[in-house]
Formats: sequence, structure tokens, C-alpha cells
Amino acid sequence: MDQETFQLLRESIRRFVEREVVTKAQAWELQGFVPREVLREMGRLGFLGLRYPEEFGGGALDARATALLAEELGRSTFGGFAITVLVHTDMATPHLVNAGSSEQIQRYLPRLVSGELISAVAITEPDAGSDVKAIRTSARRVSPGPGGDWVLNGSKMFITNGALADLYFVAAKTDPAAGSKGISMFMVEKGMPGFSVGRKLDKMGWRSSDTAELVFDDCRVPAANLLGEEGKGFYAVMKNFQNERIAIAAMTMGEAARALELTLEYVRTRKAFGATLWDKQAIRQRLSMLAAKVEAGRQLVLHAASLDAQGGDCVKEVSMAKAYCAELLNDVVYDCLQFHGGFGYLKESTIERMYRDARVQPIGGGATEVMLEEVAKRL
Ligand SMILES: Cc1cc2nc3c(=O)[nH]c(=O)nc-3n(C[C@H](O)[C@H](O)[C@H](O)COP(=O)(O)OP(=O)(O)OC[C@H]3O[C@@H](n4cnc5c(N)ncnc54)[C@H](O)[C@@H]3O)c2cc1C
Repeated sequence: MDQETFQLLRESIRRFVEREVVTKAQAWELQGFVPREVLREMGRLGFLGLRYPEEFGGGALDARATALLAEELGRSTFGGFAITVLVHTDMATPHLVNAGSSEQIQRYLPRLVSGELISAVAITEPDAGSDVKAIRTSARRVSPGPGGDWVLNGSKMFITNGALADLYFVAAKTDPAAGSKGISMFMVEKGMPGFSVGRKLDKMGWRSSDTAELVFDDCRVPAANLLGEEGKGFYAVMKNFQNERIAIAAMTMGEAARALELTLEYVRTRKAFGATLWDKQAIRQRLSMLAAKVEAGRQLVLHAASLDAQGGDCVKEVSMAKAYCAELLNDVVYDCLQFHGGFGYLKESTIERMYRDARVQPIGGGATEVMLEEVAKRL
């Protein structure tokens, strides 16, 4: 993608966010989900298919487009909105495109790119989060031998788009004795017998993102909905994590940059001790250092995305970016709230919501400690 195309795309996403998100998303925070029409509109504008082939309505772009989209959605200041979209575009749907047969891709991808269908990815369970191979949801064939339908049993926890989605990419154990080689991926449609949405989970932040438990009670899944090869699910999950983490890291840097902008506006007008807060060297230097770190974080994400785009191994750089940017965002919103004083503590202030939203980033999509283990293995 050349610089000009990149810039035009950035501007059109930014305009959409300013027009359709910033002015409306407070209502989504209160209702606990993003209206479907918003995703349909994003589909119509081409934003949901940036990474997918043109023949399916996509833009055929690489991981740098993921970073761009995520950063701009993060700049909305509504983390719940951003994660709703990014789970669909860059965390769930890639499972189909990376491992699906051409029949499966034909069946689902056009409707995912248009926003007619919303997707979710269901890996985490009540007893297994960071340790993916410890999942217990089981999948067994109804009748022995290849080609038969499957029956899924178990539950999933913390699933973004859990209640809203139409199509779920679900990790399950097809061979409980085979460890990571015994995990396979399935596509479960809402309405398949034995599948239900459990509790909707009440969260500290990301209030406009719907997060739910999923329940599989003898859920019958057609043979045609096994995704990729049996036993290769763990590798699919690990591969997809790279894109997911690029998206999360870029989203955090969009949020951090916007939090700094809002704080700069505030401290330049707020007066204390006869001058603006900006006139206090301690404040402007702290903001300057945070701005430098955010720029460094952005460049690290872009570097990881460029490596991914070149097809190289980028696990070290992606893990560094996810760990660094998620922690940095929390440092940024902490200081930004501090410099807003008492107003920053009020529910009506944007920075209060950003502070709550930020806290999940060093946990979800690979906790900081897990990321640092990935880095350590490669140092
Ligand atoms: C709002 C939200 C949305 C989510 N959306 C999804 C989704 O759409 N799909 C999905 O499948 N999952 C989703 N998750 C789950 C998320 O990915 C997990 O919460 C995350 O992977 C951590 O797993 P856990 O919560 O089970 O924590 P655990 O694995 O129990 O870990 C707890 C803590 O222990 C520490 N820790 C863990 N491992 C190590 C280690 N090796 N070394 C040192 N310290 C360690 C970390 O600090 C970690 O935070 C979501 C979670 C949240 C909160």
C-alpha cells in the first residue's frame, strides 16, 4: 500500500469515527453493545474487509492496514466500540480466511465483509485462559470415522461479541490425550441446536462491548463446519494471535495519543497558582516524555506489522509491541487523569472512561507476563 492510499484510508476512517462514533457511542456504553447497523455501515464503506481478497469485497491489504484501522478506532476513545469491530475484522474472521476451504470461505466471507454477519472467537474457558492447551470443551464425532457430524460440550468465558455474533470460531478438544495436537477449530452458527449464550458479563470498562459466556450442551455441528485440519487448531490459534496482538497494540496507541491530545487541551487552559498547568515544567515535561513513548510504541507496532506483511517471523516484535503498548497506555491514562484533577474523576469526563477501558489491555489477548515469556524465549 503506498503512502497516499494509506493516508486516504486513514482520513476516511477518521471521518467516519468522528461522525458516527464519537457523537453516538455514549448511548452504546449505556446499552452495553454496538448496534448492528454501525457494523453494516462500516461494511458498506469497506472497513470490515481491509485484509480480505477483493473478490469477496475486501481490500487485499496487509497487517499495516490492521494497525491503521485499530489505531483510528482507538482514537474514538471508546474502547468498547473499537474492540467490537476489531474482534470481528482481525481476531475472529481471520480464522476462516487462513484455514477455511474455498467452499467455507464462499459460504461466509462475503457476509462477514459486508457486516451482515458478525463474528466472535471463542477460546478462553472458565478454567483456561493464558494456557490455551488446557481447554476442556470437547468435540466428538457423532459416528466414528471421518465425515460425520460433531457434538460439542463445554463452555467458553469472556467472549467478545458473545451475545451479538452470528458466527463463532470455537476451539475444542478433539483428542483429549493429545495436548496441543488435540485441539481443532469449529464454526458454530447462532441457532445450532445445543448452543446458547450464557451470562452477559458486567465489566469495569469496554462497556459498549458485549462480553458473554457461551454454552455447548450436546451442540450438533455439521462435518462441513470443522475448520482446517483436525488437530491443527492450536497452531491456528497461535498464528492468529499475531494479527490479534498487532490490532490490540495499535488500538492502545490510538487511545493513548488521543488521551494525550485531550489532556494537552485541558492543561493549556486550566489555571492554578496564577498560570496554566502547561506553564508548570513538571507537567509539560511528563506529557512530553509520554508523547515520546507513544511515538516509540506506534513505531514498534508498525515495525511488527511490516514484518508480518513481509511474511517473516514476527512473534518477538509482536509480543514486545503488545506488552509495551498495553502497559504504556495505562501509564498514559493514569497521568492524564491526574492532570485533569477532580474533573478527571467524574463519570462525565472522557478520561475517566479511557482509564477504565485501558485496564483490560495488559490482560486480554495475551497477558503482559505471557508476552514477555514469548520475548524471553527469543532473546
Ligand atoms: C473484556 C475481555 C474480553 C475478552 N475477549 C475474549 C474473546 O473474545 N475470546 C476469547 O477467547 N477470550 C477473550 N478474553 C479472554 C482473555 O484473552 C483472557 O482473559 C486472557 O488470555 C487471560 O486469561 P485468564 O483471564 O484466564 O487469566 P489467567 O490465565 O488465569 O492468568 C491470570 C494472570 O496471571 C498472570 N499469568 C498468566 N500466565 C502467566 C505466566 N506464564 N507467567 C507469569 N504470569 C502469568 C497474568 O498476570 C494473568 O493476567 C477476554 C477477556 C476479557 C477480560
